[in-house]
Amino acid sequence: MESTLRRTWAEIDLDALKNNYEKIREHVGSEVRFLGVVKADAYGHGAVQVASMLQILGADYLAVSSIDEGMELRLNGITMPILVLGHTPKEEVPKLIRNNLTQTVTCMAKAYEYSREAVNFGGNLKVHIKVDTGMSRLGYLCDGEHFENGVSGICEACELPGIKAEGIFTHFAVSDEPGDECREYTLHQFRLFMDVIDAVEDKWGKRFSLHHCANTGAVANYPQTWLDMVRPGLLLYGYGEYAEKLGLQPVMSLITTVSTVKIYTPGTHISYGGTYRTDKMTRVAVLPYGYADGFLRVLSSRAMLMTEDGPVRQIGKICMDMCMIDISEAPSVDVGSEVEVFGKRNSINTLAQMAGTIPYELTCAVSKRVPRVYYRRGEIVEKELMLRG
Ligand SMILES: *Cc1c(COP(=O)(O)O)cnc(C)c1O
Repeated sequence: MESTLRRTWAEIDLDALKNNYEKIREHVGSEVRFLGVVKADAYGHGAVQVASMLQILGADYLAVSSIDEGMELRLNGITMPILVLGHTPKEEVPKLIRNNLTQTVTCMAKAYEYSREAVNFGGNLKVHIKVDTGMSRLGYLCDGEHFENGVSGICEACELPGIKAEGIFTHFAVSDEPGDECREYTLHQFRLFMDVIDAVEDKWGKRFSLHHCANTGAVANYPQTWLDMVRPGLLLYGYGEYAEKLGLQPVMSLITTVSTVKIYTPGTHISYGGTYRTDKMTRVAVLPYGYADGFLRVLSSRAMLMTEDGPVRQIGKICMDMCMIDISEAPSVDVGSEVEVFGKRNSINTLAQMAGTIPYELTCAVSKRVPRVYYRRGEIVEKELMLRG
């Protein structure tokens, strides 16, 4: 077990998660409820551990992408409300009801199916209606000429037998992007959402208990959108451009260790393809961290990693199971030294930028063979995956 730990692992700082939750709560105020987005294994951090922490902290709701993700939480002691954001096949409606999972309803066809299945089962399915205000993905289309049709469809869905409409929500496409155009787009989405809510509640004669739309960008930039509940993902994990301003901390640190050190003469080709050639005497370390662990190959010869002597460059093509770094300027780095790929000292935002992507993709990419080690008050409280048992 120790030998596995000494290769490459992800440290998950549950105190940072707690800090982030509390700071976001403070930011939005005590009147606004908190839904923590824990889809995709909590963005790679471990859904069960993150959800358990949020449950202890008193969060109000969780969101996952599928019924399977919801079931993983239910089977691991999570009793708080869980919203399934994505599609669930109609055959699974009894399972949703039995496990008290809230299902998103995205269109009329789904509403009919879910209603029929719930009635057959003899129960009520709790749902949140999704409105497409400009993301052009899931949800009742309600913009422009579709407004009346969208509104009457939503009302009809809410009235179907076996359907218990608890909430209504929409999702912003550019709330985290700068510039006036994105601001205008987001505000248009928000106004449309509010118009849809007003029209539906007028016509239906009832009110939804939960109106929500604020993802990370909107939690940071658009207080008017917080409504009954905010729905942050990335922000909760402490990444992205808004995290620092709000006093949030990165929850995951990806740590690897030096397995070999060698000195190469000038003109030596390093790794597959020979794309990197040393131009001086070069001290090179091999790290047991490759693209099968989640180190995107597009970062080859570009990524900067953090050592005890400061930042060093990754050189040569990133391999499946390992990669190399130039430690010529990092004399104290030797076999066994820890190297931070991203985390508290090496910002994941910078690494994502170098890869031409977003931090979401990098934490989601950390593969299942990388053990997650959970810290609480500076102590290891749990080791996940291969280290279990
Ligand atoms: C993923 C997701 C979120 C969270 O988005 P962040 O940008 O991580 O805050 C919120 N709502 C929905 C519907 C989502 O799919």
